[in-house]
Amino acid sequence: MKSAFLFFVLFTAITVQSCAQQQPSQQKFAVTKTNEEWKKILTSGQFYVAREAGTERAFSGEYWDNHEKGTYFCVCCGVPLFSSTTKFESGTGWPSFYAPLSKKYVGEREDDSHGMQRTEVYCTNCGAHLGHLFNDGPAPTGLRYCMNSASLNFKKG
Ligand SMILES: [Zn+2]
Repeated sequence: MKSAFLFFVLFTAITVQSCAQQQPSQQKFAVTKTNEEWKKILTSGQFYVAREAGTERAFSGEYWDNHEKGTYFCVCCGVPLFSSTTKFESGTGWPSFYAPLSKKYVGEREDDSHGMQRTEVYCTNCGAHLGHLFNDGPAPTGLRYCMNSASLNFKKG
C-alpha cells in the first residue's frame, strides 16, 4: 500500500514537472523576430544553427580553435553568453566551455530530437539555439557546454 502511494506521488510529480516545462514555441522572449527578419541579419549558416536548431560540422566553425581572450555574445541578440576564461580544449571541433558567463542568458531545456535525450542550451533573451550540455567536462564544474560557432559572436577584450 505504501509503495503504491509513493508511486502515485512520484507519478504525479513527474507529470506536473513535464507539464510545467515550456515548449520553445510557447516561451516568450525579450527579443522576438520573424524568420524573415532573422534572415536579414544572419547568414544562412547562422540562421540554420541558431533559429532552426541545426548543428555546424565539427572543425568547420570560426571559434573551436580560437584562443583569444574575450567574450562570446549571442549572434542573434547580442547578450554576453560565455567568456574565454572558461573555454577549454574538448577535441570535439566545437567551441566548448565548462561554465556560462551567467545563467541569466544561458538556458537549458530537454531535447528529444534525433532519437537522443540531450540537454539543449539556448539564449534566454531571444530563444537562439546555441548547442548542447554534457556532463563530461573538466573541473571545476564537470560540465561541457558544446556550442556552435555560428550561434556566437566573439569580441576581443
Ligand atoms: Zn540571443
